[in-house]
Amino acid sequence: MDNYLVRVVGSEADVIGLACVTTTLVAEACRLHGTYPTASAALGRALTGGTLMGALLKRNQRLALKFEGNGPLKKIIVEADNNGVVRGFVGDPKVDLPPKNNKIDVAGALGQAGFLTVIKDLGLREEPYKGIVQLRTSEIAEDLAYYFAESEQVPSAVGLGVFIEAQGDISAAGGFLIQSLPPSDEAVVEQVIGHIERMPPLSELIRGGTTPEGLIDILFNGISYRVLETREITYRCTCSREKIESVLITLGREEIEALTRELGETDVVCEFCRQQYHFDGSQLLHLLKSMEAVR
Ligand SMILES: [Zn+2]
Repeated sequence: MDNYLVRVVGSEADVIGLACVTTTLVAEACRLHGTYPTASAALGRALTGGTLMGALLKRNQRLALKFEGNGPLKKIIVEADNNGVVRGFVGDPKVDLPPKNNKIDVAGALGQAGFLTVIKDLGLREEPYKGIVQLRTSEIAEDLAYYFAESEQVPSAVGLGVFIEAQGDISAAGGFLIQSLPPSDEAVVEQVIGHIERMPPLSELIRGGTTPEGLIDILFNGISYRVLETREITYRCTCSREKIESVLITLGREEIEALTRELGETDVVCEFCRQQYHFDGSQLLHLLKSMEAVR
């Protein structure tokens, strides 16, 4: 397994911990989208955060994260499921800002003012859950922790790191998520917070070869725990020609007729994987006919 996630629980069932390495999947996403370094870091952090949150869902549930800010990146969209599959994109991949205090300026790229929306598709019988919070620092990890505290009332600590080499290559990515479960044990929480405060930068640890198990060892040092699962995680898009057709149909009959008349053909590009779907004139007419049949 190249990229994977480990989920553990404290032996007193008072704290859960997740840690993952996402270097390859983040590199693949950045290659697909042609991101510049600051956009790469933002996308990588959000994809890693989505992967961690997806692992908290039940089977076949899905979630979407939408970060919208007033910076040049405009937005970051991430979708993840409970099977370790994640995908995402940014509003403008060609964002590269100078470092701020020697750190990648993700907050400057996303912008300080804006919102984080979390949508959870919990399955067929339930209404999707939607939580919205203001962006806290726009550094992604703190925003997710703030969301958990405000919207779900679950005290959480989130760490996300992406290491970008001078020439723009992604050499490390990963993260962790710690949640305190009721009734929370203050001493355990304090212990974990202490470990987080003293740990070296996450991206440097992962670049140096630290595994998800190694991250958990650092965070849970002195706290006994057991491993609940180890799962592979991948970047994969779920788009298909059928899904793209249904998106086209939502444009409405008149719009498709106009496309057919004026251009004779059209290309639709999937925002998540940049795959191009071509529709020639006869395929557009076929689509129009199928819409008629439904009516
Ligand atoms: Zn796609």
